[in-house]
Amino acid sequence: MSAELLAASGIEAGYGKVQVLWGAGLSVQDGETVVLLGANGAGKTSLLKVLMGLIPLWRGALQFAGLDMAHLRTDRRVRAGLAYMSEIGCFPGLTVEENIRIGGQFVASAELGRRMKELYDIFPAIAERRDTLASSLSGGQRKMLGIAKALAGRPKLLIMDEPSAGLSPRLVAEVIDVLGRLGGQGLSLLIAEQNVNFLSLADRVYTLDGGRIGFTGSVAEMHDNDALRRAYFGLK
Ligand code: ATP
Repeated sequence: MSAELLAASGIEAGYGKVQVLWGAGLSVQDGETVVLLGANGAGKTSLLKVLMGLIPLWRGALQFAGLDMAHLRTDRRVRAGLAYMSEIGCFPGLTVEENIRIGGQFVASAELGRRMKELYDIFPAIAERRDTLASSLSGGQRKMLGIAKALAGRPKLLIMDEPSAGLSPRLVAEVIDVLGRLGGQGLSLLIAEQNVNFLSLADRVYTLDGGRIGFTGSVAEMHDNDALRRAYFGLK
């Protein structure tokens, strides 16, 4: 059995006095791709931000790679092997190369040089534009840059917030293809999405609704559940 990489349980958090997460929990095994599926406002971004320490955890437990992360600073979580890609994914006012350098800020410079070369091999379209401002890239290239930036520090787990945001169906398919290849090479992925096409990548799925986890299981099990099939696949 593979080792547990991330384990979150009983997560409660919110903004000011407004609670948005109500005991949510999830886990990711080493090498696993997990999709967190939920509609707008379900709390996906909030849950990912709690995992990264970008908003405080009110109550609950959070472990990553055997470390208690519940109240660790974000930079320490990154050093421990977590990477986060927000919906925007990169800094538009910086060049491609500057973005990747920020993603690899905790990596020694010789190692970062090697890593950058590997990333440019994986993403040739951005390699050609390394001195270009991210704001001048197409939406698809910007997303690939976001992924390259997040991978610069060789994370153990890449946490992604709606990688489909703002992309055409063709570009969504390209992103899914890249993530499938990365997952196939052993990278662990936690992807928050409302686009069910990402389920093709999922070893396991969680649904989030109103700040609570509903279903957890495989995509096949989701299809076997009448209510989920209707809610997420629009099928009778
Ligand atoms: P989306 O797909 O729209 O990003 P989501 O599933 O990621 O949705 P969240 O962004 O986590 O959901 O939002 C969950 C709830 O928290 C929503 O009711 C939202 O209005 C609220 N919320 C999010 N950010 C803030 C904030 N900074 N201050 C106050 N409330 C917030």
